[in-house]
Amino acid sequence: MSERHLHTPLFYHKPFIISGPCSAETEDQLMETAQKLAKTGKINLLRAGIWKPRTKPGQFEGVGEKGLPWLASAGKETGIPTTTEVGNAKHVELISKYGISSVWIGARTTVNPFLVEEIAQALRGTTMPVIIKNPVNPDLELWTGALERVRSYTSGPIALIHRGFSAQHTGKYRNQPMWQIPIEMKRRFPEIPLICDPSHICGNRQLLAYVAQRSIDLNFDGLMLESHIDPDNAWSDAAQQITPEQLDLMLAQLIWRKPASNHTPFLDDLVRLRAEIDQTDDDLMQLLADRMKLADKIGALKKEHGITILQTERWNEILNRCLEKGIQMGLHADFIKNYINAVHMESIRHQNSVMNPTENS
Ligand code: PEP
Ligand code: MN
Repeated sequence: MSERHLHTPLFYHKPFIISGPCSAETEDQLMETAQKLAKTGKINLLRAGIWKPRTKPGQFEGVGEKGLPWLASAGKETGIPTTTEVGNAKHVELISKYGISSVWIGARTTVNPFLVEEIAQALRGTTMPVIIKNPVNPDLELWTGALERVRSYTSGPIALIHRGFSAQHTGKYRNQPMWQIPIEMKRRFPEIPLICDPSHICGNRQLLAYVAQRSIDLNFDGLMLESHIDPDNAWSDAAQQITPEQLDLMLAQLIWRKPASNHTPFLDDLVRLRAEIDQTDDDLMQLLADRMKLADKIGALKKEHGITILQTERWNEILNRCLEKGIQMGLHADFIKNYINAVHMESIRHQNSVMNPTENS
């Protein structure tokens, strides 16, 4: 067993790297993948799905219990702790029987408080390390609730995994990253390691390194990346898996930046730029407050003349004007839409309290 596994409690090595195939397929496939991963010297936890929650029936649903001794012996052979997904209490009972080192709760389970409660209860009183993936939908409270349930029954280490959120139109991603959600989890639980899973966010190989780098630059604590000795022929998630050799290369090419520094010239520049940011934020707040005073005046004028608050034509005109100007100034269209929509809603709220002063809006 290498140093990094012996002396660091699970999840607290930084960066913490989890890898292994999406699914255990055969004993040889798992052992060979594990050995090649071990050779990189960079892997802290060996993953393999034993029970696979597939979206549709008829797809490969995992080898089941017979894969557990394969995973246990791949872990023993390489000295890397192991992990697999549990979806119910029976799975927890089985992983304990075969000596798997840790478990993860998958995105399709985190959405279900009944199942999370059942799994947490099955782990009651243990110090089993548990990884909690975000729910498939972007619901911070569900993710937080799952963490609280697990924490209330067990005293082992816990980590969170960001694997993106499903949407009807995902664009270039299989699951939208929606970085604001893991950032908020990090703010709520600064002591809990947060790991990014670029494999399930991307659903393809091309974007893996890009997403991994983005998470590192947001000071995530580690990565979960699926790897397979023969990715194209994997029984699940073939499009997103890479070989252990490709993984090794990708990890070597990522740039691991520090979260902070005591270097004086850096700190001086940072303080100066942050003061400018604070001043700009103050100016923006003042401008927004001034804008709302104008909205109050418009509200009074419309009330006097019996005119409705919302005039779709005017709203379209504002939106298009801001989009055109903002894009020219280098702002992203999504940001402009979110921003101007929030301003417009606040403006409506102001006009409404002028028109209907008794209403508690
Ligand atoms: C997996 O890790 O293979 C998996 C099924 O992930 P998720 O729960 O994020 O879809
Ligand atoms: Mn997978």
